Amino acid sequence: MKFEDYHFSDEVKMSIGKLGFKKPTDIQFKTIPHILRGEDILAIAQTGTGKTAAFAIPIIEKLHAKKKFQSRKDGIKALVMVPTRELAIQIDDVFKKLAQNTRVKSFCVVGGIDQGPQIQKLEEGIDVLIATPGRMFDLVSQGYIVLSRIDFLVLDEADHMLDLGFIKDIRDLLKFLPAKRQTLFFSATIDAEIKKLAYSLVTNPIRIQISPKDPVSKNIDHALIKVEQDDKRFFLERIIKNYPEARFIVFTRTKVRAERVVQAMERVSIKCLSIHSGKTQEERNEIMSQFNKSLINVLVATDISARGIDFPDVDFVVNYDIPEQPENYVHRVGRTGRGIKRGKAYSFCSPQEDPLLLQIEELLGKKITLVDIGYSDYSEVVKESEDAHTDWKTLMKQMDEAEKSYAQRKRKKK
Ligand code: ADP
Ligand code: MG
Repeated sequence: MKFEDYHFSDEVKMSIGKLGFKKPTDIQFKTIPHILRGEDILAIAQTGTGKTAAFAIPIIEKLHAKKKFQSRKDGIKALVMVPTRELAIQIDDVFKKLAQNTRVKSFCVVGGIDQGPQIQKLEEGIDVLIATPGRMFDLVSQGYIVLSRIDFLVLDEADHMLDLGFIKDIRDLLKFLPAKRQTLFFSATIDAEIKKLAYSLVTNPIRIQISPKDPVSKNIDHALIKVEQDDKRFFLERIIKNYPEARFIVFTRTKVRAERVVQAMERVSIKCLSIHSGKTQEERNEIMSQFNKSLINVLVATDISARGIDFPDVDFVVNYDIPEQPENYVHRVGRTGRGIKRGKAYSFCSPQEDPLLLQIEELLGKKITLVDIGYSDYSEVVKESEDAHTDWKTLMKQMDEAEKSYAQRKRKKK
């Protein structure tokens, strides 16, 4: 079935066409009719399969159809909650594009920037609000956001939104919402416990799950490289230099390790930037913009900072560190192979990380293919590095000291 054949308004069809979408993806095909019928949904589908449009299209269509009968003064009609600011901005962009020929107005509120202009925009009246919990609750408690007319509540990256960090926020939020509403959960991963929690928050949900057996998209070839912890930088350098035109996202476990990777790559003349919660919102926006415009082709990220983000044309994901939460493996490699594109993911696994790898393979229900690097090749990668002659131990010590003094300065400032 094509989008042309749907009973959508011409305005919505036109903007779907403008985005270049001809046929719905599996998850869109399966969820859109239920959402149009007013049902609650728990939708699980692999990364990069178009979950955003799966909820944005029917929400816009329904609001657009009703628009003639109600005024915007009624308040916000749809609330989309997401874990990060970058994801909120991205989803708002999709709503804006899909709603461009309608009167449906979307807007996003995120923390880290001045709230003045956000308040002004809210007072003009909007239909769809995309928000991260922190700033939204501030604005609710100050009375700038009224949630009593919500028809749709969407939790994107739902397993993360219902996880420990956010569940209290979500429960508080439900108190502000009308009982009669549609609740939609979307995610690529969900475990049994979170699923139970999700069900407890909705009435008669329709559960839609696409390829539950293998949570990694079939567009991604993923492989494992066994490498000693201290040699990882050489392997990263080799892969990046083998593909000078390619675009990479490199994942590390912590912010500090992300910074170390950036420094190690800079020493071998590889330009890269890092994104994580230790940077200001302005810095994060600037980095996203540089990476999205291909001004830099290597982005070093931590798990949370990249969840759900649709970075354009990422060829490689490198798990520089094996993730501690197994489901994060799925979210990380899912930054490539999006839509109809293919992608590659390499995971660098040191002997110390083998137990984490086992957990991931258990979640995937299969082994990750091992790339066999014979010993001579291995030592060649290390030897050929521009950086092989640096005294790494001294350097690490210097960096540790720099970090400590930075932390001290920061504490003093406070
Ligand atoms: P997910 O949330 O499932 O990870 P996104 O909603 O971010 O995926 O979409 C992934 C990519 O697929 C985006 O670049 C989006 O523009 C594209 N896409 C979505 N729906 C379609 C479609 N029906 N046809 C072609 N491309 C699509
Ligand atoms: Mg998504």
